[in-house]
Amino acid sequence: MRCIQLDDRNLCKLFGKPERPKVCHNFKACPDVCGDNNAKALENILELERLT
Ligand code: SF4
Repeated sequence: MRCIQLDDRNLCKLFGKPERPKVCHNFKACPDVCGDNNAKALENILELERLT
């Protein structure tokens, strides 16, 4: 499910704000999850959800 805080450019509307969830702040982008483009990131996330 797409986060309601994403804007039309897939940028976080809470970025840099104190109300941004700690789990988001702590997540560090990595190629295994994010790939090198949006389509690959979505593919990886779907696969992770399928496996867990
Ligand atoms: S960083 Fe967190 S709050 Fe911001 S869009 Fe992503 S999941 Fe949503």
